[in-house]
Amino acid sequence: LPPRIARLASETEKCMRCGFCQGVCPVYRETRGESAVARGRLALLEAALAGRVRWGQPLEERLSTCLLCGACLAGCPSGVRVDRAILDARAHVVEIMGLPMGRRMLLRRLIGEGRLDACAKFARRFQRLALRRRGENLHSPSFLLNRGRLLPALAGRTLYEEVRERAEDGRPLLARGDGRGTVTFFPGCLITYVYPQVGLAAGRVLGALGYEVRLPAAPACCGAPAVSVGDLNTAACAVARARDGLGHGTGSAATETIVTACASCAATLGEGEEGRTVVDVARFLMEDGNADRLQALGAFGKWEAGPVTYHDPCHHRHAAGLGQPPRELLRRLAGPKFVEMSEPACCGLGGAFSLRHYDLTRRIGRRQATLISRTEARLVATSCPGCVLQTNENLAVFGRHGQVVHVLELLDRSLEGRV
Ligand code: SF4
Ligand code: SF4
Repeated sequence: LPPRIARLASETEKCMRCGFCQGVCPVYRETRGESAVARGRLALLEAALAGRVRWGQPLEERLSTCLLCGACLAGCPSGVRVDRAILDARAHVVEIMGLPMGRRMLLRRLIGEGRLDACAKFARRFQRLALRRRGENLHSPSFLLNRGRLLPALAGRTLYEEVRERAEDGRPLLARGDGRGTVTFFPGCLITYVYPQVGLAAGRVLGALGYEVRLPAAPACCGAPAVSVGDLNTAACAVARARDGLGHGTGSAATETIVTACASCAATLGEGEEGRTVVDVARFLMEDGNADRLQALGAFGKWEAGPVTYHDPCHHRHAAGLGQPPRELLRRLAGPKFVEMSEPACCGLGGAFSLRHYDLTRRIGRRQATLISRTEARLVATSCPGCVLQTNENLAVFGRHGQVVHVLELLDRSLEGRV
């Protein structure tokens, strides 16, 4: 058997059909369809492997309804990696059927061939014509995604444009530091083009700790969007481009530690990375004496703002096991003003999932907005720019008040005495 199929078969064999995954799957919670829960998906894949179900369009459609959130991993007594099984199956479907032309061209041109930067800069010049302003920072596109969706605008200046003056030897720098060490901050697409303030906050916080903070040589996508739809050729091109920008092969820009503020970037870049560490920023800040140093810098204990809650990015919490570091950070920042939601809730984004199944995104997002509003916190922190985007939309669509920010932004504000 080809390795991917062998891996898939070994995951489907592990499932003992206990159904524990039903209680945690955000898609099953909304649809109540057995084919939408891990157990049903695995049964379907087993049937496909045995030749009883065709590797065709209906199967692809079913597979596309998985958020890859990983909620089913935590309580699975057999330790089935449903997320990996779904990714392997999607890649197999793409190998057999290919991708629809539009999707293939979009992914290949933007991500594989690295044209996203030029396209984003072109799009931001005309976005005011296409976006109707709705509220503080959200816009409704009048075409393309004309389904009442609310999106943030592209930033006026990308993260790279923000730090252009600070570049040294052609190498973009977020902070010069004071000799404590050098790290590279990998911003990913959303922070580069939509939320550059998160990247700038990362530079100020890590710089205050004494680190020289570099950016990769050029903006690059980590490849996660292509991985998630099974387009592994495009994903490989994107990863190669991203690693190139991180100094692979040349050593000129290479640092041992790559810090990210995006759960998807950490997962995709960390896969197969040898000799270097790809680390989530909250974890980095809570380790190696950094938390004590932040304390000494006066970052904690100044909180005067109202209650703040935390939204777990699903794969950050479930697949990467990174639920604690951002909470630890928030506890130190906000003390008793940090309030937990009664249970974790998916925001419903799921990368390409929300483009294909926006109705489900809305239904899943409604639950998240409700749980957030029950905490009475008007401030929501999270660890992923994708979750910032979707949670902002969920709160706006369902009439809940709240501002959603990356935890880094709160730490940055606290260092500057603005909380
Ligand atoms: S919890 Fe795990 S073993 Fe049980 S049905 Fe779901 S995937 Fe299968
Ligand atoms: S990864 Fe998430 S959406 Fe997919 S089956 Fe598991 S719980 Fe459901």
